[in-house]
Amino acid sequence: MKRVLLLSTGGTIAARQGDMGLAPQVASASLLSYVPELSGRFEIEAKDILSMDSSNIQAEEWQTIARAVYDQLDRFDGIVITHGTDTMAYTASMLSYMLQNLKKPVVLTGSQVPIESILTDAKSNLCTAFEAVEAGIPGVSIAFDHKIINGCRAVKVRTMGFEAFESVNAPCLAEVFANGLQRGVGQIVPRDLQKPTLLKDNLCTDVFLLKLIPGTNPAVLKMLMDMRYRGIVLETFGAGGMHFLRRNLLPELQQLTDRGVSIVACSQCLYETSDFSLYEVGTRLLACGVIAGRDMTTEAAVTKLMWALGQTEDPEEVRRIFDTNFTGEISLEQ
Ligand code: ASP
Repeated sequence: MKRVLLLSTGGTIAARQGDMGLAPQVASASLLSYVPELSGRFEIEAKDILSMDSSNIQAEEWQTIARAVYDQLDRFDGIVITHGTDTMAYTASMLSYMLQNLKKPVVLTGSQVPIESILTDAKSNLCTAFEAVEAGIPGVSIAFDHKIINGCRAVKVRTMGFEAFESVNAPCLAEVFANGLQRGVGQIVPRDLQKPTLLKDNLCTDVFLLKLIPGTNPAVLKMLMDMRYRGIVLETFGAGGMHFLRRNLLPELQQLTDRGVSIVACSQCLYETSDFSLYEVGTRLLACGVIAGRDMTTEAAVTKLMWALGQTEDPEEVRRIFDTNFTGEISLEQ
């Protein structure tokens, strides 16, 4: 029987209706009591580490979760974390970087409907998460609506539907069908079994995400410079473009990179890779010293930048970190 640690952090899965709307109240042991069949199949320990709507989860909570996982990892075959769905993809990405060379399954799950509701998806999501541990899928993943998604490829795409998460630019790691959990073609970056798992939980929170609109005022970039942001993720247009006519963003970008601010450029399109070498509006951006985010999701890019800036103050080292594929968050071959 596999030993599994259940860590609860809150979210809809644990929510009850209060005076001001849904808020987490159900403890981890009670969550388990709704799925008694799990206790017959796994040796489970349950621990409440947070009780929050995931909209409130920030860098401090990522550290709390990562440390709780790291401290207990040796004692268990895998860890299941219940978490609100709204920022689950950010947490999953961040844990992927913080827990380096993670060889065991760490599976996040939650639900769109509270576990105490008759129409809940929580029970099946919990069972899928435990099955991911049973299958020994290494690294951080999200189990939701019968799918196991690499944590750093997950994006929340629906507010109400049960298919809340998609695996973006990478196949699912596994999926549940009538004949059980089937491993997918999603690539698992090989772990070095001889080397230990490391906790690297230093972060920099001075990271801003700027989604461009046609004609974004360059003064916004100046303001970010004045606010001393150390990292910016730019969501640019299409395959990779940014305006340089009239409201020219290039001089401010150049100034930012000259001052050692790390800027990562991604696409506003959810699917497929950005390629800043394709159009003039992209090559001019790259010439300012911007790092290409390739096919990373915004969630994976933002968290990677926060993490990279927590590891180093050297912009060249940040670039090297972005040129490294840690857990499948980026396709470098394109
Ligand atoms: N607001 C909730 C949360 O993210 C939504 C959910 O869990 O589905 O905590």
